Amino acid sequence: MYKEGRSSGSSIIMGGGGSSRSELLGGATDRKRINEALDKHLRKSSPSTSKDRDSFPSTSTTAKSQLQEGVESETDSEGSDVSGSEGETSWISWFCNLRGNEFFCEVDEDYVQDDFNLCGLSGQVPYYDYALDLILDVESSNSDMFTEEQNELVESAAEMLYGLIHVRYILTTKGLTAMLEKYKNYDFGRCPRVFCCGQSCLPVGQSDIPRSSTVKIYCPKCEDLYYPRSKYQGNIDGAYFGTTFPHLFLMAHGNMKPQKPSQSYVPKIFGFKVHKKQ
Ligand SMILES: [Zn+2]
Repeated sequence: MYKEGRSSGSSIIMGGGGSSRSELLGGATDRKRINEALDKHLRKSSPSTSKDRDSFPSTSTTAKSQLQEGVESETDSEGSDVSGSEGETSWISWFCNLRGNEFFCEVDEDYVQDDFNLCGLSGQVPYYDYALDLILDVESSNSDMFTEEQNELVESAAEMLYGLIHVRYILTTKGLTAMLEKYKNYDFGRCPRVFCCGQSCLPVGQSDIPRSSTVKIYCPKCEDLYYPRSKYQGNIDGAYFGTTFPHLFLMAHGNMKPQKPSQSYVPKIFGFKVHKKQ
């Protein structure tokens, strides 16, 4: 069943990470194999879904409406942080706590349960229904019939689906608030630039199309991009954070935007400034 698949599935995820991953399966090769299978599947199903893929529709509209929402309803963020059933960890918490997945916030289950929020994703993610059940910890009777490889594909699809839900969620009021906590906690790392003085960074994608590039961190002080420090984080798809997030975040939380750095580095030789060549 899924619960068992959960532990072995952790090794296949493109998004790098679990501690137990490499011990459980052959690590890189298995991940590669499964990603290839997933790619094949995606390619096969792409003609019917290219419409969905190109448009990536909701971001701009979501962003806009969320901007308004953010202005209008600061108050609705007090909602309870549901973390699945008591006693057992939900898939979402489990996933977000894997090594390398520190950048992800926990998406509210209510948000995942609302079909409207998932519009267009069923065409992008293979095994969509099973992947969604897995994310929501819904026991599926059919999962018994799956081969091990199919289970792995479902696990991998669930990760992709979660990522694609996540990129939308973090543009909502609740998502921005969840990411604010992580930002204050330096969960996304600090800017490596000396004169940024350990500035907290934000995750960003260089593309909104899945599998085009890995996640980077954006420093709001020097306004530049850097690689995440951990190689596990460095394997995560940038499309799960998107190109819009840090900028909308800083607009929504204007007080979090730091001053531009006042100092910059001056190269010197024997104490003399190096003359700039044309
Ligand atoms: Zn910086």
